[in-house]
Amino acid sequence: MALIVHKYGGTSMGSTERIKNVAKRVAKWHDAGHQIVVVPSAMSGETNRIIGLAKEISAQPDPRELDMIASTGEQVSVGLLAIALQAIGKQAVSYAGWQVAIKTDSAHTKARIASIDETKVKADLDAGKIVIITGFQGVDELGNITTLGRGGSDTSAVAVAAALKAQECLIYTDVDGVYTTDPRVVSDARRLNTVTFEEMLEMASLGSKVLQIRSVEFAGNYRMPTRVLSSLTDPLIPLEEEANSGTLISFEEDTHMEQATITGIAFNRDEAKITVLGVPDRPGIAYQILGPVADANIEVDMIIQNQSVEGKTDFTFTVPRGEYTKAMEVLEGSVKAHIGAGSIVGDSKVSKVSVVGVGMRSHVGIASQMFRTLSEESINIQMISTSEIKISVLIDEKYMELAVRALHKAFGLENA
Ligand code: ADP
Ligand code: ASP
Ligand code: MG
Repeated sequence: MALIVHKYGGTSMGSTERIKNVAKRVAKWHDAGHQIVVVPSAMSGETNRIIGLAKEISAQPDPRELDMIASTGEQVSVGLLAIALQAIGKQAVSYAGWQVAIKTDSAHTKARIASIDETKVKADLDAGKIVIITGFQGVDELGNITTLGRGGSDTSAVAVAAALKAQECLIYTDVDGVYTTDPRVVSDARRLNTVTFEEMLEMASLGSKVLQIRSVEFAGNYRMPTRVLSSLTDPLIPLEEEANSGTLISFEEDTHMEQATITGIAFNRDEAKITVLGVPDRPGIAYQILGPVADANIEVDMIIQNQSVEGKTDFTFTVPRGEYTKAMEVLEGSVKAHIGAGSIVGDSKVSKVSVVGVGMRSHVGIASQMFRTLSEESINIQMISTSEIKISVLIDEKYMELAVRALHKAFGLENA
């Protein structure tokens, strides 16, 4: 007997029919003698729908109230799943985040989990119940409902698994594992049997939304065995078969034998680029430009500053597309005049494409192969950034899918 956490995403919970299938799958695991905690997302489209209602009323709704609204989708899901389990003869109980309690900080719409009280959940499990806990939401110290950022149910599930010292966290979704790239963009992308924790962390942070990045961080910090697998198979397939399907996040680099160099390709459409032209090249200038941007709570990603000519240079950086207008306002508002810059230009139609792989540590020439492939497709590279296991380029968003497909082929990632 083991304690196992299941997480079901929006598509997996997308209709009452699908919820009944989730109930059958969960019951199968419980019948096999396991203690099961389930963390579902809102039904697909629901979080967008209810956030949309708030935005019909105000362009910038109060984040506290937005969390009050956004968190309700998951509350419907847990109740429906408990009813579906009870309907097939299982004892099941649902909880909202605050009832557990899943405590977070007060950063509304992007809160971080601080602690999880496992007492109540453990008692229910010991009494033979299946426990269902809302994904995506928590409660701050003052009792306000918080949410963990879009895609946050992954993080709830891994954090609950860590708090309960579960044997494994199973992330059931609408694809049957982690692929070399998004299978919706490259049809012959290949499913990976294992992916190292570090690679998964890079892929998630570079835009592969199959797992929210914080869930991967939790998995790493607590060494929680985490597997991504399909919720769309027949719910009654043999448990052994299901338990070994999908993609396991591994913590052992040397077990990762699948390919030598690149493991996957990630992309992010949600990018914007800003260039401050004619900046005086003197100490403190990066701080004077990026300090106010950070103070406005805008995350900066790629940064380049060129060699100066006659004491002036250009300073370019990227921000999330949703923050582009705000970042431009900050710069035009006070920074430009203060530092004596020439002008500020921006482009909100850029995307980032990244190749990721621990194999890069021991192979040279990955960057040149990447750049050659893009040049053969006549794709202009606007910015480059690298780490030990990834190379990212910023390109015109029109060429994003072309770049991903060309790189996927060039690095031999497709299905044999
Ligand atoms: P859920 O609702 O179950 O949380 P998400 O839509 O958040 O599901 O994540 C699953 C989706 O992630 C897939 O449908 C797929 O389009 C996308 N995705 C992006 N990159 C990858 C990848 N490398 N492997 C698998 N899926 C990926
Ligand atoms: N329902 C939330 C969202 O749509 C959380 C999740 O699905 O993981 O972002
Ligand atoms: Mg998701």
